[in-house]
Formats: sequence, C-alpha cells, structure tokens
Amino acid sequence: MLDKVLIANRGEIALRILRACKELGIRTVAVHSVPDRDLMHVRLADEAVCIGPASSAKSYLNIPALISAAEVTDSVGIHPGYGFLAESALFAEQVERSGFTFIGPTADVIRLMGDKVSAIAAMKKAGVPTVPGSDGPLPDNNDELFAIARKIGYPVIVKAAAGGGGRGMRVVQAEAHLLNAIHVTRSEAGAAFGDDTLYMEKFLERPRHVEVQVLADGQGNAIHLFDRDCSMQRRHQKVVEEAPAPMIDEEARQAVFKACVDACIHIGYRGAGTFEFLYEDGKFYFIEMNTRVQVEHPVTEQVTGVDIVKEQLRIASGLPLSFKQEDIVLRGHAFECRINAEDPKTFLPCPGKVTHFHAPGGNGIRVDSHLYDGYTVPPHYDSLIAKLITYGEDRETALRRMKNALDETMIDGIRTNIALHQDIVRDSNFANGGVNIHYLEKKLGL
Ligand code: ADP
Repeated sequence: MLDKVLIANRGEIALRILRACKELGIRTVAVHSVPDRDLMHVRLADEAVCIGPASSAKSYLNIPALISAAEVTDSVGIHPGYGFLAESALFAEQVERSGFTFIGPTADVIRLMGDKVSAIAAMKKAGVPTVPGSDGPLPDNNDELFAIARKIGYPVIVKAAAGGGGRGMRVVQAEAHLLNAIHVTRSEAGAAFGDDTLYMEKFLERPRHVEVQVLADGQGNAIHLFDRDCSMQRRHQKVVEEAPAPMIDEEARQAVFKACVDACIHIGYRGAGTFEFLYEDGKFYFIEMNTRVQVEHPVTEQVTGVDIVKEQLRIASGLPLSFKQEDIVLRGHAFECRINAEDPKTFLPCPGKVTHFHAPGGNGIRVDSHLYDGYTVPPHYDSLIAKLITYGEDRETALRRMKNALDETMIDGIRTNIALHQDIVRDSNFANGGVNIHYLEKKLGL
C-alpha cells in the first residue's frame, strides 16, 4: 500500500480522500492556498504545506508547487480529486516523471479521453454507442459544414473537443444559424481551453443523463458499479443525482454495462472512471468519459457497498481489484443533493462565515462536508459546501429520508440552495422518476 499520499485538492473531496487514506493506514499530506489554511482536512492531515496564494492558478493548478510539496514531505502518491488538475494529462505525466504515483489512469489515457473527438472515436472502436455526429473535427469549408449538419439533421449541437464544466457548446436549430454558432463557439473554445477544435452532434431534445461507474486495475480486470441518473441539471451542471438510474430498459442497460467494461480493457484503463451517456427512447448515446472520481460517487457507494476512493488507492498501490463483477450486488436506492453556498433564486455565489452548522442524521443519512461552526467559505473557489446523501431499501424511502435530511440541515450565516432542493424533492414528476435534462430549467422558468 502507498505509504504517504499528498491530496492535491480542497474542500469536501480532500476530506473524503483523507478519510479513505486514514482507513487504509496511509499517511496524509494536505496542500492548501493561503485563505484555505483553516480547511477541515488541513487540520486533520498528518502534514500540511501552503502552496500559494488564493488564486487557483498559483496554488491548486500550480504543478511545480505541488511537486515540490510532494518532494519535501516524502510523499509517494498524489491524489488529484476532481476539478483542478484531475484531468490534466500534463500533471499526471509530470507526477510520474518526478517519481511519484499518480492516483488515476496513465497520462496517455487521460489525453485520449480528454479530447472528446478522440474519446468518441475510441468508444466507437470499442463498440460503445455514440451520438450521431461529425465523426471527427469540423472542417473550415462552409459547404462541408452545411453537408455535415444536414446529414445529422437539425437541431445539432456544436461542441468544443476540449470542453468541460458545461461550457463550450451551442445548439443550432436551423441552417441559417450554423456558421455564426460555429464562429462564436470556436473563439470561446480557443480562449477558454486553448484549443478551438470543434465537433458536431445531433442535439437530443429530451434525453436523460445516465452514467456508468467503472473500476479497472490496469492489470486486465475491469468491473462496472451500475448506473446513476444525473438529469436534474442547471446550465449543464448536475444538481441532484441518484443510483441506480430508474426506469431504464434492462436489455439496453446490460448491453451498455458490458460495452463500458470492454472499453476499459480496450483502452487500458486504470482506476475509477465514468462513462457519461444521454439516454432517450430506450437507447444510450456516449457523450464523454471522466477519468477521475466524480462528485456524485457516494450514491454508487451506498448502493454497492464499494468504497470507490479506497479502491483508487489500492489500484494505485499496484493491487488487483478487490472485487469480481459477480461480487457487486446492487441494493436499495440513493440520492445526493449538492448544497452550494449560493442564493437559491439568483444562483449567485454567497461566500462568508458559517456562524452555525448542524448536519442531519439518522438511518441512511451520509453528509460529505468540510463545514464546521465558524468556517469561512472563501470567494475564490467552487461554491459546493456539502453533499447530502441518503440511502433507503427502495427509492421512495431514500427520497423521504432526503426530505427529512434537508429539513434538519441548518447552515447559518450564508445563503445556500437548500430551499431549491426542498422544492425538487417535493416535485411529483421527480418523485415518479425519469425526468429529462431540461426539466429543472423549465421548472425554474429559465
Ligand atoms: P461537459 O464536459 O462540459 O460536462 P458534456 O459533453 O458532458 O460536457 O455535456 C454536458 C451536458 O450537456 C449533458 O449532460 C447534456 O445536458 C448536454 N448535452 C451534451 N451533448 C448533448 C447532445 N448531443 N444533445 C443534447 N444535450 C447534450
């Protein structure tokens, strides 16, 4: 087992990783920016190193600072969490070249899956169903562009190959708007991602977002941990997630699980990963792969009993998977609500001091949060402050528990989106299951 792990992240996921390390007897190193010195995991880690000022570019995205911190603390492994450098092939490469273990896939695989055009091509080759699209980067020639869009059929969606976080995509309803949409998306992508490669896909009008969690040990073994539904989204960002995905055609579901596991073997995948799909009319369409642990991983942990972060650490230590596919049994249902420090109406971030925090409890309740009384949420980073996760033997029980958990939670001093979640969990269509990705925005009148 890795002897000492540096956690190259902050907030709830840094605490989540720290807890997994402690359970496995791994020593921990926290790294933090100047305003983050009071983070919960910094207090609990065996050692802590300040890596720079508030700006992420100078701290959590600062590769030389992170590698120096690993060197001075004699760390062996580096866990990137999610966000920041978690999907940076350059970071993975530099970590390994400096003699440390990157807790994730190889840099080559991150690069392959990080470019959505090459990811889609690899998935097609591996037999994973994809969205009808341009089959490669968009050309410059206008006639060719019109021909591609006509062949796909309007509406189409123009997407940046290097896009992420719901940015760098634009829906085109008719030919008259195509060239302008491509022009605008291309300049946005160039500015935001440093890569203006675009591709085009059929825009599915009422799909659900269903994803498949996988684990692979890079030694020829790969398994899936079933699916999650993350259709409750705002601006392409997930708000509520659940496992398993309700009301999915069983034959299509088993076929997609098999395709994901086969794809892991095909691309030489190592670690935890997620295949994201759109699901419409009983069919799955691959959109991208996340080569890291995801925010919503706890719902899968609740219904399978597998600790995904501990598995990441074991795999990075060179151990084979602790489970075979037949060991993984799906039991019950789980929900996750992402609690953000933001105004529930305007969605604007609301940093500040938490004067009082009371976490919910009881049977089937899990809270992944770095909050404590007196903690100040800084304005510089993502506004996620807590994840409420509930488990029940069936979907209805898990949902009732979520209602109770939200009602019990108290976060004083800052505004949060708890009221939005209270509204969602009381929505009758959500209670029935299977709403599509546009449902929340329509409900909010956006
Ligand atoms: P990102 O990497 O920015 O998260 P994704 O490719 O995963 O981008 O897409 C994010 C979201 O955008 C999806 O969950 C879905 O809501 C929407 N989306 C992406 N592609 C399509 C498509 N072809 N049709 C309809 N919606 C799409």
